[in-house]
Amino acid sequence: MINSRQVLHFVAALAVGGTLVLTQTSRADPAEVDAVYPKAYTLYLDLHQHPELSFSEVQTSAKIAAQLRALGYAVTEHVGGTGVVAILKNGPGKTVMLRTELDALPVEEKTGLPFASRVRAKDPAGRDVAVGHMCGHDLHMSALVATATIMAHSRDSWHGTLMLVGQPAEETLSGAKAMIRDGIFTRWPRPDVLLALHVSNLLPAGQVGVASGIYDSNADSLRLTIFGKGGHGAAPDTTIDPIVIAARTIVALQTIVAREVKPGEFAVVTVGYITAGSKNNVIPDQAELGLSVRTYKTEIRKRIMDAIARITNAEAQAAGATRTPLIEHYESTDAVYNDPALTQRMRAVLEGALGKDHVVTVEPIGASEDFSAFVEQGIPGFYLNLGGADPEKFEQARATGVPLPSNHSPLFAPDVDPALHTAISVEVAELRDLLSANDRG
Ligand SMILES: [Zn+2]
Ligand SMILES: [Zn+2]
Repeated sequence: MINSRQVLHFVAALAVGGTLVLTQTSRADPAEVDAVYPKAYTLYLDLHQHPELSFSEVQTSAKIAAQLRALGYAVTEHVGGTGVVAILKNGPGKTVMLRTELDALPVEEKTGLPFASRVRAKDPAGRDVAVGHMCGHDLHMSALVATATIMAHSRDSWHGTLMLVGQPAEETLSGAKAMIRDGIFTRWPRPDVLLALHVSNLLPAGQVGVASGIYDSNADSLRLTIFGKGGHGAAPDTTIDPIVIAARTIVALQTIVAREVKPGEFAVVTVGYITAGSKNNVIPDQAELGLSVRTYKTEIRKRIMDAIARITNAEAQAAGATRTPLIEHYESTDAVYNDPALTQRMRAVLEGALGKDHVVTVEPIGASEDFSAFVEQGIPGFYLNLGGADPEKFEQARATGVPLPSNHSPLFAPDVDPALHTAISVEVAELRDLLSANDRG
């Protein structure tokens, strides 16, 4: 049996002598999306009202796993904790991985929506906290299951291996690494391409934002402990004052971006806290500084980290400190990198699916994401920004200059209907293109 999709493939292949082109086939038929939408919305409401914290996504992952299993996917649960891996093999071809996050945040929802979360749970420290899907991961999960449905029901429109991943603990930037440690790229076929998206109020629903190359920032957290020699505030000659060393160090650290980083390159060095001393007439033994460093490029990041160590050690030495400062790099995330060739290809697919005016170029954002951990395994990735704002409210915000609530705000509430429709269309279009029947070579 041959159907309309196959005819289109055939026509497109004929038209270009069998080489790869963007065709009608990489689009999701609006009727296909409409057919799966009611179930996707029901899942969205369910997930939204039953949010779970990072690495506690037990019910969430069980729901996703059950739905994917019912569609015929080979599903494995408890990957890297509460993670889910679902595989659909459909003949020879590439392996493409589409990832969603599973977790919610310890944030009390204040949207006033009839389906707002009222869930409370114990956080890892044992505190009772409100829990809400205030980052929109419920929308990503619903889209992924709806996309899985369309792909399972249209196997004639693609070939290869579809790998769907429910990743735990994105909000603590640890779930991707946990899945890698648990063998996500060795127990299953290693993907050729990685895909993900994130809803936000940066764009109106119906639009998507594309950044080629760097998508967000590297984030590094450092703790510097400067050791002096304490004593009486009136006898500084008998001491080595760590507060003076800290003060000099802070000022010198501010010369890194100003004097050592090439003008125009993105870099931030912030000393977010300083802790030292307890009384005006006592010189303390030590001082502690907390730093946040943000960069886009690896070489700039390395240069800044080296400069921080050099300056911190040199200032201590200049003051005659006998003990070398302790520099602890206690938290870090790498920037998400969108493969330029893949981005160019996906941009054309998105324009085909949504229309040119619904695909916009966006600047890298300041936030961080552990999708980078998957990309760093040496696999090209494409991560896009999904418009989530009610288009009317988006225009109002632009006119008044009062920004819409950001992700993680208690008021964050994406315009679900258009955003979820768009997410499904985009994912199906990307997958059909990457797992294209024209791409057999
Ligand atoms: Zn988040
Ligand atoms: Zn998020």
